[in-house]
Amino acid sequence: MSEQQNVYPVRDDFAANAWADQEKYQAMYQQSVDDPEGFWADQAERINWIKKPTKIKHTSFDINNVDIRWFEDGTLNVSANCLDRHLEARGDQPAIIWEGDDPNDSETITYRQLHERTCKLANALKEMGVAKGDVVTLYMPMIPEAAVAMLACARIGAIHSVVFGGFSPDAVAQRVIGADSKLVITADESVRGGKHVPLKDNVDAALTRPGTDVCTKVLVVKRTGGDVEWKDGRDVWYQDAVDHQSTDCVAEEMGAEDPLFILYTSGSTGAPKGLKHTSGGYLTYAAMTHQYVFDYKEGEVYWCTADVGWVTGHSYIIYGPLANGGITLMFEGVPSYPTHGRMGEIVDKHKVSILYTAPTAVRALMAHGDNVMDSSTRESLRLLGSVGEPINPEAWEWFYRVIGNEKCPIVDTWWQTETGGIMIAPLPGAIDLKPGSATMPFFGVVPALVDNEGNELQGANDGNLVIMDSWPGQARSIWNDHERFVQTYFSTYKGMYFTGDGARRDEDGYYWITGRVDDVLNVSGHRMGTAEIESSLVAHEAVAEAAVVGFPHDIKGQGIYIYVTLNDNAEPTDELKKELIKWVRKDIGPIASPDIIQWAPGLPKTRSGKIMRRILRKIAANECEGLGDTSTLADPSVVDDLIEQRAIK
Ligand code: ATP
Ligand code: MG
Repeated sequence: MSEQQNVYPVRDDFAANAWADQEKYQAMYQQSVDDPEGFWADQAERINWIKKPTKIKHTSFDINNVDIRWFEDGTLNVSANCLDRHLEARGDQPAIIWEGDDPNDSETITYRQLHERTCKLANALKEMGVAKGDVVTLYMPMIPEAAVAMLACARIGAIHSVVFGGFSPDAVAQRVIGADSKLVITADESVRGGKHVPLKDNVDAALTRPGTDVCTKVLVVKRTGGDVEWKDGRDVWYQDAVDHQSTDCVAEEMGAEDPLFILYTSGSTGAPKGLKHTSGGYLTYAAMTHQYVFDYKEGEVYWCTADVGWVTGHSYIIYGPLANGGITLMFEGVPSYPTHGRMGEIVDKHKVSILYTAPTAVRALMAHGDNVMDSSTRESLRLLGSVGEPINPEAWEWFYRVIGNEKCPIVDTWWQTETGGIMIAPLPGAIDLKPGSATMPFFGVVPALVDNEGNELQGANDGNLVIMDSWPGQARSIWNDHERFVQTYFSTYKGMYFTGDGARRDEDGYYWITGRVDDVLNVSGHRMGTAEIESSLVAHEAVAEAAVVGFPHDIKGQGIYIYVTLNDNAEPTDELKKELIKWVRKDIGPIASPDIIQWAPGLPKTRSGKIMRRILRKIAANECEGLGDTSTLADPSVVDDLIEQRAIK
């Protein structure tokens, strides 16, 4: 094994001030699994209930009766929990700091202002005929109105379905149809990296598709003032709808199990799944994980770089931080604009304490060398976080050293759209860090490893990652398709939630996510995850990013096919290919020896920045015709280039 890992022990000063040190983590974790009812009844106190729940946990993973309910007889309103209850103590404190795509644009919105804006829109939605239980589709830029729209829906009991603003008209149409959504909220255009994206045009195109006539209203925020077509009777300017509204709107009393939102997965492994999340358990879990994993303290500026179109944006830009009365930074643009130093500059400008981002962003910066961060000091940072993919140890170390100035713990957070919140991550005051490991389960989470027959594996081992019991943030179903929910997550292993990911547990009980189970390689009978080989390559000075897939091989069953993106200063020569093959052989062993290396100027990624190995697998196998669902691909031209340059002739 290649891991001669560095260990970064918890710093004493960090532990002394953290919400949980090691002792507290262990005690709380033990209680959370020994007595989930008692534990979560206590944790539910962090919510302002209208009617306090008396029934805490009612969950079954039995394939014949998958049924997940938390706090089922409680009632609450999620928007009131994120806004109203903070008005007295921190009405004039910032709730959202918005940073525009243009470095000269920013805006600070206090809790009082956010409350007023939310109430106005909530009243406007009611006037437009939106009622409790209706689904509202949001297709928006990263502007404050996106947060306002989510909270306004929650306020009146409407269910939001956020569609990432980078998606095509077809994706919007599918999601409008899938949810029977009668209203879309959008903007004239979004601005990212100086470029304008015609959101309203895309909505117009989406609503010409068959089946979309359920949608009768489109509410349009004026973001750029760009030209838009107008359909009278259907289209309404946001400003016109909200201007005359009252700044008060009574928050609807909702059941804990009433839906809060529908959200689609990233589509890394197939057609995206529209998960249904509900109110009471979700909010409890989002708030608690935000507090403990990010060790969030009152008054700190916290920045999650995700888009609200992903679950990370839902739980850790909006609901978790706002439920906790935090200050959440919302960034409209991209980290590379106007220069690659932008992320650090934003940290300095707003004195960000906690920065939560993705491995893809770290690797992109790393490819430009250490000086890429020279335009900022990032002195204000105290904690870093990572989510979305396994973070290669090399990228972890760079994140720690260059961005965090060697003083910020990194919380590598493993979770999924389906889980609603963080599941495996180091609490920074409690758990020693190992670069590349998501480490230990959060309170109430019982992970396990099973073999392909579903037998539980003990001790240090490698297997399929499952979760043995429910936690409050768990998705309750797939929208309008409970059967697919049951089949996808509960039919593979009896009585367990199957994550679709593989993991390794080491001697210290730390979890290492090895990649998607669908992507596991089987070379001459040896099963290998993708993460380890990719991390080995990324550790080479010439390599910026790597993706590993299997391809049919006469002798070995599967051979190892590797796509490599080089750093700015490296040359793609045959010599280098040989060197990389040697490098992996030496680092991991001859069994992992790459058969084919193809240079890849870019890799196919989902719009949330994850490598889509299923497409690379098809290209490697020379099955370029049926690439499957490519609707969530960020840049389809990358695929054409790779097919053209395919290494096997
Ligand atoms: P789809 O389910 O449609 O294929 P997706 O799984 O990429 O898409 P998400 O729910 O956004 O959609 O992503 C969850 C997945 O991302 C996890 O199952 C895991 O594979 C990966 N992931 C997220 N965070 C981490 C992490 N910290 N370490 C390793 N993998 C991670
Ligand atoms: Mg998934």
